[in-house]
Amino acid sequence: MSRTRKAAMLAAAAALLLSACDAGGQGAASGSLEAAGGSANAASPSVAASPSAAASPSPAAEPSAAASPAPAEPAASAAPAMSPKPASPKEEKKPVPERKRKLPSGFVYVDEVIPTAQYEIRYFTDYNFVGARLDGYNAPYAILTKQAAEALKEAHDFLAPKGYGLKIFDAYRPAKAVRQFVAWSKDASDQRMKEEFYPEVDKAKAFKLGYISSRSGHSRGSTVDLTLFERKTGKEADMGSPFDFFGDISSHGTPEIGKAPAERRALLKRAMELAGFKPYSKEWWHYTLEKEPFPKKYFDFDIE
Ligand SMILES: [Zn+2]
Repeated sequence: MSRTRKAAMLAAAAALLLSACDAGGQGAASGSLEAAGGSANAASPSVAASPSAAASPSPAAEPSAAASPAPAEPAASAAPAMSPKPASPKEEKKPVPERKRKLPSGFVYVDEVIPTAQYEIRYFTDYNFVGARLDGYNAPYAILTKQAAEALKEAHDFLAPKGYGLKIFDAYRPAKAVRQFVAWSKDASDQRMKEEFYPEVDKAKAFKLGYISSRSGHSRGSTVDLTLFERKTGKEADMGSPFDFFGDISSHGTPEIGKAPAERRALLKRAMELAGFKPYSKEWWHYTLEKEPFPKKYFDFDIE
């Protein structure tokens, strides 16, 4: 894929996010959980953060972007994702947003365990390969089993002195959302997100190729999709291909990416493996806790 084409897609994605924000309600999804807490103030930083969040995953976003102009930008995108009291070195607890329900036994909200990670729950938004919010995503929260969340915190802490933190795209995924993936893959008429997420893959083959499965490990509550953010700027790191891009470029060990993104993928992998997670060869962002507490149980409670 050419850089120009990527850049065009990028612009389209940013526009899409902006329009989603304009429409109201969706802004809270990208970036901060505080924004979802309902405060009017929280809404604007979140909107500001959206375009840059969309921009960063693509290799077309110039790696030097962080260093160049737009001095306001990094601060804007960093602020909502970090804890409200400006980044204290200790992970101080922040006011817990009101949660709508008690979680099933053994599950936790990840931001209550790792307040300084970033959260952009893509399936709560329409910026994902389906192009719509998924069933069961009633709020932009990352939920995991307690064991998985605590292991994830180890990875986050391991990365801190290296200048990185974890940014989470998805964690526990209700089984009903996975059923929605199945229905989506069978609907050949719906190609709205093809350009951006699966330009070279026939969506009907997404299952066979291993990009989606009819029962996802995510529904067992100990699997997470994530990337790195740079602590200095708060920006998402360039990992060589965007989250949820269906293609060989997303596999570990791909020769299609540069040295720096390859090193970042390796760093994330090392952090996750040290914390007890195993990688998935086809998706650099997908990790499952080795000793997951519910290895055979698939949950379907809503995220709220
Ligand atoms: Zn995943």
